[in-house]
Order: sequence, then C-alpha cells, then structure tokens
Amino acid sequence: MTYYDQHLHTHHSYDSQADFTDYLDNSTGFVVTTEHFDVANPVTGQTDVPDYWAYSAEIEQLNIQYGNRILKGIEIGYYQPKEAEILAYLADKTYDLKLLSVHHNGEFDYLDDFVADMDFDTTFSRYLDELSVAIDQNGKLQAHVLAHFDYGIRLFDVTPEALDKHESKLIEIFQKMIAADLAFEINAKSTHLYHHLPLYTYALKMVLELGGTLFTLGSDGHKLEHYELAFDELKTWLKAQGVHQLVTFQGGTRHFVTI
Ligand SMILES: [Zn+2]
Ligand SMILES: [Zn+2]
Repeated sequence: MTYYDQHLHTHHSYDSQADFTDYLDNSTGFVVTTEHFDVANPVTGQTDVPDYWAYSAEIEQLNIQYGNRILKGIEIGYYQPKEAEILAYLADKTYDLKLLSVHHNGEFDYLDDFVADMDFDTTFSRYLDELSVAIDQNGKLQAHVLAHFDYGIRLFDVTPEALDKHESKLIEIFQKMIAADLAFEINAKSTHLYHHLPLYTYALKMVLELGGTLFTLGSDGHKLEHYELAFDELKTWLKAQGVHQLVTFQGGTRHFVTI
C-alpha cells in the first residue's frame, strides 16, 4: 500500500470549499478527511462543528461510487474551557482518524495576523502550555495524532536555535505524546508553506531520541493544490532522519507503511 495523506479538509470544514471528488479523482487509494471541530472559534465567533450526519451520508454515497475508498476523520481543536462540549460531541461518533490540535486560546487564533508581531518566547510558551493540557486529556479524547506541533508559531520566521529555550517543555510534551500513543505529525503546510522544515528536523530528532515510533505525514490541505504537498520530498527527508515507516489509521487499527 502506498501512503496516503493523513490531514485533509473538505467543505465539511468551515474554511474549505473542497469536495471529496477533488481528492478521489486525483488519487487511487484511500482518502481520509480530518474536518475542523473548533469550539468557541475566535476566527468565526462561533463553534465550528462538522455536521456528522451530512458528512457520513455524503461518504456513504460516494463510497458506493468509489469502491469504499473514503475514511472518516476529524481534527479536534482542543480548548480546555469547552472540554465538556468537545467530549459530548465526540461521544456518539466513530472515526478512522482523530487529530488533536490547538488552534486558539479563546482570545485569538495563532494564525491571526497580529500574532506575527507578538513576542516569540511568550507566544510559544503559552501555546506549549495549552498543547500540554490538550495531550493530558487524550485518555478521554482518544485522538491518534498530535497535529502540527508548531501551529502556535507558524507566523514566526525562526531558526531551530529559537526552540532551545523551550527544550524542556518540548521534551515533556513529546514524552507525554509518546506515552499517550499519539503519532507525531509531519505537517507539510508547516514545512513547505510556512518554511518550518528545520524546526521539524529539530523536533523529529527529539521525538526519535525519546523513543517515538509513530509518525504521520499530512498536507493539511484545504484544496486540491495542497493535497499530498511535497510528499516525495518529505519521504526522502524522513528516511534521511532515520524514519522508514509511517502509520495510517483505519477502523481503530494502525497500519504501518514502509516509505
Ligand atoms: Zn489544524
Ligand atoms: Zn487541518
């Protein structure tokens, strides 16, 4: 089996217009989408939640046409004050793939323009604290993947040395991620559109040294142009870092794929 994108959005996410068929017609194997679930989203001023029943109905219909190629997923935007709402939504739903993310802190989304003018260390420190709390709840959330560890600093153009100051917190986060069986995501949008590949090289080395074995590759695509963005290049890069297997998720089972 060839590896397939583990982070993808369609019109079931508040910020995407893509259709399943955009991806299906341009690939041959499985397609899994991970739709945004962002409670109390400061970007839109509301809770953005996929309509699970509409999502499931569309997938069911397309799976007849496309030979069961579509899998279900969600990207949980964790926000601690609304944890009860998150858990209530997830309680009666099943997914092949659940990503765990932190996008906002109730006040702002970390991709809001003005974040770029904020102090790097203060911003990263705050974001890592929020990420740490999110991982602590994974016993309840049951996510499979820790998405874009660098989301909080995507707007900062920094070298890996800037992360040194936060090394102990990163180690603690990655240790907890590994203990929670969360895979570490290589986010192609971060590496190639926000130019954070050197930060991923730094973090991946750390995760490997801590004994991490679960890795995913996701484009975080919201449109066809970003589907499996730079995957060939990233697979070569992964092998150079000593990672030869990536993981996918299907019906509660992990599958390892040699790259
Ligand atoms: Zn995200
Ligand atoms: Zn996403």
